[in-house]
Amino acid sequence: MSVTLGSPENPLRVAVVGAGPSGFYAAEALLRSEKNVVVDMFERLPAPFGLVRYGVAPDHAKIKNVIKIYEKIAEDPDFSFLGNVTVGRDISVDELKDFYDAVLLTCGAQTDRRLGIPGEDLPGSHTATEFVAWYNGHPDFRERAFDLSGRVAVVVGQGNVAVDVCRILCKTPDELKNTDIAAYALEALAQSRIKEIHMVGRRGPVQAAFTPVEIREFGGLADCDPVVNPQDFELNPASRTELETARELRQKKNIEILGGFASAGPSLKGKKFFVHFLKSPVELRGKENVEKVILEENELIGEPGKQTARGTGKTEELACDLFFRSVGYRGVPIEGVPFDERRGVIPNKEGRVVRGEQIVPGLYAAGWIKRGPTGVIGTNKADSEETARHILEDISGLAQPVPGCGQPGTGLLLERLKKKNIRVVSFADWKKIDAEEIKRGKAVGKPREKFVAAADMLDALGVG
Ligand code: NAP
Repeated sequence: MSVTLGSPENPLRVAVVGAGPSGFYAAEALLRSEKNVVVDMFERLPAPFGLVRYGVAPDHAKIKNVIKIYEKIAEDPDFSFLGNVTVGRDISVDELKDFYDAVLLTCGAQTDRRLGIPGEDLPGSHTATEFVAWYNGHPDFRERAFDLSGRVAVVVGQGNVAVDVCRILCKTPDELKNTDIAAYALEALAQSRIKEIHMVGRRGPVQAAFTPVEIREFGGLADCDPVVNPQDFELNPASRTELETARELRQKKNIEILGGFASAGPSLKGKKFFVHFLKSPVELRGKENVEKVILEENELIGEPGKQTARGTGKTEELACDLFFRSVGYRGVPIEGVPFDERRGVIPNKEGRVVRGEQIVPGLYAAGWIKRGPTGVIGTNKADSEETARHILEDISGLAQPVPGCGQPGTGLLLERLKKKNIRVVSFADWKKIDAEEIKRGKAVGKPREKFVAAADMLDALGVG
């Protein structure tokens, strides 16, 4: 006789793929529901927390406090962390379906959008995502090298990621040394000879994607002053309407802060942070390395709230030794899972994965891989709750795992991974790695000194 799925005798078993914010919020929603649910969270690195650990800037320690909430979720007896397991390589999504009633993909957006301009791949031209992951000690990016020996860095894009990259380049070693920045990055940045940092936006100050708290910080840096052109505040009628009718204060505050920067007197500090508006890079030039970027002046066209940038044909050259594009993250496909190449997301209807118009039974998505790379960490909570609600609504139609596989527990799956020589890292294991990192940090006045190689994390467990 079959026992109802979601009951104490037959809990709903969900595999969550990805241990970032959206994965944890989905796990929380599932575990708090009235149904009996078991959540196994898979993560390819031995360390959890995704972009909170590897995306949030090291000098924004407060934002990382959200980890405490995730640690609480991980304490639930029906939650397991299976770190150091790559879904799609160590185990396929199809195999997971044999062990779980539902598979929920929360693997984020792991790559970046391209500009599609000549010279984009010249040495010295990088993505912001690489640089962010590098200074945050992400194991896949620790070997990257960024030549900081030139004078001028140009960052294209005006979202908070661009702002983070600029701020890290603008700060002194003293301003960074007590953060959890990777030791190698601190060392490289301490040798940096970059004196000018240019952040280039294709639209105007009213349309800038950054938030006031983030842009305001440039007014209080130890050895860098912001430089804004007062002419950038000569707004077109549509931008004036946008500003006057904006529902949130963000744009007004941004304009106020930028206006303050524009009216400040001459700077005597060693570095300058230039904010450019209404300009798009159309080409990168250089022989062996990027040497200059050609910027085209833009004008805004369209209705208030929907204005887009259109090139005017007027160009200028900006000398450039180091170039970053920061124009948004992008999801990557997972084998066996539908993928929307244009948007870089898994196609879905409110979290239910679809192939064409057809819902794929038992397969779900949440977070950036569901809706695209927008919003702050907290935005993922409501997004993940929506998907969790739909998993629970679908419970009566979910296929039961293959007999002998799904029940009991996760034992069989762990055996299968062990046979493949995969050392699965549990949450208790992670806490040991965590304690070791904090200890290493204490010795050098940092909140933690991250292990920057998966092998070193496993070594810390005595299983190298
Ligand atoms: P974002 O906020 O979407 O910003 C992307 C930027 O790239 C925009 O300025 C956009 O301009 C520009 N852009 C896109 N395509 C372009 C092109 N072809 N040429 C020139 N510019 C182009 O993305 P993000 O900065 O990657 O951040 C992702 C999310 O994480 C955001 O929601 C962000 O707020 C969040 N985040 C938050 C924090 C924080 O709270 N401290 C830190 C980091 C990230 P248009 O506006 O013209 O499209």
